[in-house]
Amino acid sequence: MNKGRILINRNICDNAKECGGIEVCSEIAKALFWDEKNQQIAYDAELCIDCEKCVDECPVGAILYAKTEEKYRQIENEIKFDEEKLKKLQVERYGASPIEECISIDELDNWLKEQDEISILLLELFNDDSINCLLHSIKVADIQAVVQGNSKYTKVQLNSVEDIKNPIIKELPSLLIYKNNVLLGKIDGYYDESGKDEFFNKIKEIVK
Ligand code: SF4
Repeated sequence: MNKGRILINRNICDNAKECGGIEVCSEIAKALFWDEKNQQIAYDAELCIDCEKCVDECPVGAILYAKTEEKYRQIENEIKFDEEKLKKLQVERYGASPIEECISIDELDNWLKEQDEISILLLELFNDDSINCLLHSIKVADIQAVVQGNSKYTKVQLNSVEDIKNPIIKELPSLLIYKNNVLLGKIDGYYDESGKDEFFNKIKEIVK
């Protein structure tokens, strides 16, 4: 290896098309890119110019740089035995690959009937267009702390708002809040860390 190379720690990478590393590289070398065929972030070492700018773009350190072959092998080994998993980051709300299994909109009615032992249900309706970088996501654990008590968060995947029979939903993502299987309210639209206070206040209003 006569030049540096990038490694991606896929244990903690959320594999989002919106990856900041891809964005910065697209203006420099296009070495880091979205591979449409394999639906994943890919890397072409031939195009890489060793600028390391993509490394700085990943706040969880999923993009790593090795200057030498020895360093490359060392990092590769560290990734292999790295026990840090995406789930531990607890930021799956807007992630590209839902950590917990999500359900489809067609399954929703039946699924709801099976959840009667859960006091508060938080259902996140989303489609591919409403996925954003999970690094800016509000942690699901924090949302559950706001509602308190016995709660469950589940993502519901659909193609578009037109797939929803309920006309009150106009925008995706939309967070539906149920208590004892009764819909208390919903919060439409994307909220990231910067809108956390507003988002939490809306939740408190709904569940009070
Ligand atoms: S080191 Fe620079 S050129 Fe190489 S993948 Fe990262 S941003 Fe692109």
